[in-house]
Amino acid sequence: MNTVEQDSIDIEAELNFAIDTSALHLHYQPTVDLQTGLVVGAEALLRWQHPIHGRIPPAVLIPVAEKSDLIVRLGEWIIKQVCKDIAHWNMAGLTPPCIAINISPIQLQSNDFNNRLSGILESMTVTPDKVSLEITEQILMYRSDSIDKAFSDFKKQGFILALDDFGTGYSALSYLKHYPFDYVKIDQSFVQELPHNLDDASITRAVISMAHSLGIKVIAEGVETEAQCKFLSDNMCDQIQGHFFAKPLSSEHMQLFLQEKPFL
Ligand code: C2E
Ligand code: CA
Ligand code: CA
Ligand code: CA
Repeated sequence: MNTVEQDSIDIEAELNFAIDTSALHLHYQPTVDLQTGLVVGAEALLRWQHPIHGRIPPAVLIPVAEKSDLIVRLGEWIIKQVCKDIAHWNMAGLTPPCIAINISPIQLQSNDFNNRLSGILESMTVTPDKVSLEITEQILMYRSDSIDKAFSDFKKQGFILALDDFGTGYSALSYLKHYPFDYVKIDQSFVQELPHNLDDASITRAVISMAHSLGIKVIAEGVETEAQCKFLSDNMCDQIQGHFFAKPLSSEHMQLFLQEKPFL
């Protein structure tokens, strides 16, 4: 067995153990409305502090989990944890914004996903309109009747849908018409060099105008500077997310953040 396979088996075994022993955490990164300056959402991002190897980034562990059924177990842990955190903030007398959960395309296609998702929310008294599902463009690669059904069920159930990492993979305009997305998230690779990079500036403007003409709102991710923020605001982008406003925060910090009711 080569070392890559060996490594991925190790990560898999340890991740299973981590789920059981609460070594996993979620951080939350706020999303800000550019018109009002209000926090209108927060994205749940997985964090794993390994006792020996230190912090293992989701970009490493998610692909390993996707190679087996582990992504289903991990995905359910994430959904439950989000519900617990929402309940905790509610108990503290706060009004948490809509929480975005990243859903892996493999997880979405797993057996009975819609029912299990809504079952978890119901059992924890979280309504679907409090949750937004972020699905990467990868999903468009798998187009099938079962995925079409999953999307129409999401809408019937009342979930908010966001097409994540827009522009990096399989984006085609017809997909935006075909699926009921409420938001597209412009990938940070287009945002990084704004406003100087003229190609990125043109692409960003085009995505915003196309999405708006289809009634879809736009979130730009990875916004780090005031100049990027200004460009996006001037060009009618709806929301921003990124280190310029806030880094991903632990649930305790997110709670403090919600108490402060920040304005941009
Ligand atoms: P993503 O969904 O595109 O998430 C955005 C990533 O950009 C996050 O990295 C976030 O920490 C980072 N980021 C946010 N603002 C800035 C910024 O201003 N500058 C820079 N340079 N980076 C910024 P993270 O947390 O390492 O996650 C990486 C990817 O792993 C995510 O990309 C997502 O695809 C995946 N992921 C993370 N958490 C989960 C999860 O709970 N479930 C699933 N299925 N995937 C997850
Ligand atoms: Ca995301
Ligand atoms: Ca993204
Ligand atoms: Ca991204």
